[in-house]
Amino acid sequence: MHGIRIDIPHKGLVVLSGPAGSGKSTLAERYFTAEEIVSSDACRAIVGQGEGDMRASPQAFQLFYRRIEERLARAQLVVADSTALAPSSRRKLLAIARRHELPATLVVLAASLDTCLRRNAARRRRVPARVIRRHVEQLAQSLAHVDQEGFDRVYVIPDEALRAGTVQIRRVPLPVERPESGPFDIIGDIHGCFLELVELLERLGYRRRDSVMAHPGGRMAVFLGDLTDRGPYNVSCILLVEAMVRAGAALYVPGNHCRKLYRWLTGHRVVLQHGVERTVRELSALPAPLRQEVADRFRRLYEQAPPYMILDGGRLVVAHAGIKESMIGRMSRRITHFCLFGDATGERTPDGLPVRRDWARDYRGQALIVYGHTPVETAVWRHNTINIDQGCVFGGRLTAFRYPEGEIVQVEALAPYDPRPNIRTWEAYAGMDGSGEEPASGPGGSVGDFGRADAAEPLHIAGVSTPSAGSISDSPTASVTVPPPVSVSNPPGPKSI
Ligand code: ATP
Ligand code: MG
Repeated sequence: MHGIRIDIPHKGLVVLSGPAGSGKSTLAERYFTAEEIVSSDACRAIVGQGEGDMRASPQAFQLFYRRIEERLARAQLVVADSTALAPSSRRKLLAIARRHELPATLVVLAASLDTCLRRNAARRRRVPARVIRRHVEQLAQSLAHVDQEGFDRVYVIPDEALRAGTVQIRRVPLPVERPESGPFDIIGDIHGCFLELVELLERLGYRRRDSVMAHPGGRMAVFLGDLTDRGPYNVSCILLVEAMVRAGAALYVPGNHCRKLYRWLTGHRVVLQHGVERTVRELSALPAPLRQEVADRFRRLYEQAPPYMILDGGRLVVAHAGIKESMIGRMSRRITHFCLFGDATGERTPDGLPVRRDWARDYRGQALIVYGHTPVETAVWRHNTINIDQGCVFGGRLTAFRYPEGEIVQVEALAPYDPRPNIRTWEAYAGMDGSGEEPASGPGGSVGDFGRADAAEPLHIAGVSTPSAGSISDSPTASVTVPPPVSVSNPPGPKSI
């Protein structure tokens, strides 16, 4: 049995590639609708004298690429049915998908010369045998590097599977499209504020269960990234969040600080400032096997996390630094960067802080966007967006936004762990801190370790004794009610998950 299962994201570009007679059009017709398939042969028939009219090729390919563009511009699925055996033609198709910020899947039909010649001989429209021979040679050359051409997924169907007819194609959601619909407790930037996190989870009704905190009523926590840096208990935050995500009690999208830590853990050059130095110090103090374990867990968590999530059938979107309406349902490096860093202008304030554009001011989408990244004093509702980073690590509050209730639950910081002077800019919406690879800016002082609470009943995580939250149960909390999300009649987002 040589079965092969092919997962195709339900929107984006599918490039079929293979010699004439390998079965591309047959495969396409079996799994995709006529509207989804754009075939170079059909384009020849439209602009020329028939499918085999090679003189019509230049105009036919103009039409071919135009139709592909049109479907991707509308964020639809399109299957490009042409031989695509020249690297340049695959590059051109890939560039179109990239331009429209949608996934590109390459499916290579690696049929043998014998299979192609036999199939070609049995069909009505025959391609000369010498053309097929040339195609099969091009195929052999292509196979050496197709997996390094930049496609999101590459499937090579071997000759045996093509002959046995054991290919199966499934449509799958984009990684950012999640089936979960809530109810959720969305939690803003934690930055090592583990005691406040545990307190907040307890107030939300989460209870300790082995190494995680889970909600007996089945609610899910959603962490908006920036688990670490600046604050006192970074390792504990990593371990708790990672365990909750692994146990299905929580979801996680990464923040710019997560990216920076990930880059440090994977051997990239990282400037140890803006709080990551504190996380690195904590990690370095662990015994080597434990350090390795924490690093592995964080790496896995980060690698498996999509840059943002579309939840509740498109009614809710979560992203660390927010997202523009036009980006929702699409994926690209640019969008990932936006979700992690926000709309940075590249300029700096007089204090040397990165200037960020206020994308939420222009947001007019129907999906509710919950985000963090730039600390603001209060969680305010603007155009169906809400920023729930209330700067806990700077002495503010750790916020949870309950969805769909639209209720805010907060825990006051036990201390200003990182009393940065730029707290004054909260409402000004200028940049808060050096994110990612940005160079040094301003003083980065910290208050040193806040008194570690006596771990009377520690969460036991992989041999790490984490501080207990018991000692902060008297800490003040605030509960503010904000308007509930507007009801959405025709939500954008995943349709056929
Ligand atoms: P071209 O590049 O010339 O358009 P193609 O790759 O689209 O070729 P098809 O036209 O799909 O190839 O297939 C060539 C012939 O092989 C057709 O007659 C088709 O019916 C037959 N064929 C395709 N797939 C299979 C299969 N799995 N089993 C048996 N016959 C097949
Ligand atoms: Mg064909």
